[in-house]
Amino acid sequence: MLRIILTGILIASCLGTMPASADVVIYRFAKIIDGTGDVLNAHDIAVEGKRIKAVGNNLDKSFAGHVVMMEGLTALPGLIDAHTHITYGLSHYPAGDAWAALGKIGRAERYAAAKTNALKTLQTGVTSVRDLNADQRLDFDLQAAINAGEVPGPRIYTSGPGIHPFNDPLPDGTETASAEFLAEAAKKRIAMGADWIKIFGTTGSASDLTSRAYYSADAIAAATAAAKKAGKRITVHTYGPEAVDAAIAAGVTSIDHPVGMSAAQIKAMASADIIYVPTIDHNRYYAQHANQYGYDADIQAGLRVFVGRNIKAVRQAHVAGVTVAMGSDAVLSGFGENTCELKAFIAAGMSAVDAIQTATVNGAKLLGEDANLGRLHPGFEADFVAVSGDPLSDISAITNGVTVVMKAGELVVDHRVDPAHINQPNCGTLY
Ligand SMILES: [Zn+2]
Repeated sequence: MLRIILTGILIASCLGTMPASADVVIYRFAKIIDGTGDVLNAHDIAVEGKRIKAVGNNLDKSFAGHVVMMEGLTALPGLIDAHTHITYGLSHYPAGDAWAALGKIGRAERYAAAKTNALKTLQTGVTSVRDLNADQRLDFDLQAAINAGEVPGPRIYTSGPGIHPFNDPLPDGTETASAEFLAEAAKKRIAMGADWIKIFGTTGSASDLTSRAYYSADAIAAATAAAKKAGKRITVHTYGPEAVDAAIAAGVTSIDHPVGMSAAQIKAMASADIIYVPTIDHNRYYAQHANQYGYDADIQAGLRVFVGRNIKAVRQAHVAGVTVAMGSDAVLSGFGENTCELKAFIAAGMSAVDAIQTATVNGAKLLGEDANLGRLHPGFEADFVAVSGDPLSDISAITNGVTVVMKAGELVVDHRVDPAHINQPNCGTLY
């Protein structure tokens, strides 16, 4: 009997269901910076399967695993982009009207472009994204393919189609969305399998920088309550302060984009622990790539003004203790520039440590994954980025120095032998 049990254990370990210590791989870095921004007194990260087993020194003496040298490189946790549109993509980006081009292509082409965006995102060191607004189930299909290991890409936290008058036309004869109507809209997304409920609280998108409220505070509260009942998180899009009070009163998880909040609103966000995802940099992106969108000089000037207002809002919110998360709001050719937002945070007065936190621990908190993502800690998902240069003295080490990326224990990017292929976005100038 004993022999049978022992044989069973041996077979199990050969099949890999009981990983032996030989399956541990030790990655040795010049420096390790945790998601808190702290420099750890450690050079090694031991990875077993999809998880971090240990962080320390000389871990090859503790575990029977081989050592992989990450010479001269600094480790950070895999980064989190809290606002993407990964399913918005084209096969190429000529001058013209990119939005019209996006509207003309079929689902297969959209899906192929989404896969390219997923790969470009990994190249920036981002291993998890919250994707906010997708149609034709493109986000759900991409999420499933990535989770199944069929497509390389970041973990995707989905929303399906955002709640918006265009996606949710009002019943004939009504002019405003009732609380019941918006709760039903949230339930539709929950039934689709969305991880998040996104409400477009106001106008404002791309070259449209207006902020007119779409929904009443009661309606936003009803949708939020329905989302929470199903264990889902909720975020509200608002370009100005117009939907901020409603979002705070409803108790949402995050508020995306806004400029021009009052001191009282900022204080209320801080005390309610609502996360601010400012997406400063995407308006810089639109201005810099105006030719692809056909945006004239006036539109470009407006976008740059909005960037300045957004920086001011982040500066105020950060000083007031609001948790800020990095969200690129990347669309189309913006993938690959996902982390340029970090430079905008430095411009808003954050230290490098604060900026790192926006893309690590703060992003993990937003996702409800703070015991799983955003830190280099035993038991966490084995997601890391190895960068050249020192991110604590120059944030460009993160935007332009991503040499190696690991996601869930797998090396998904490795430019140690071909550093010329390191992703080199032109983050341009903000103003
Ligand atoms: Zn967006």
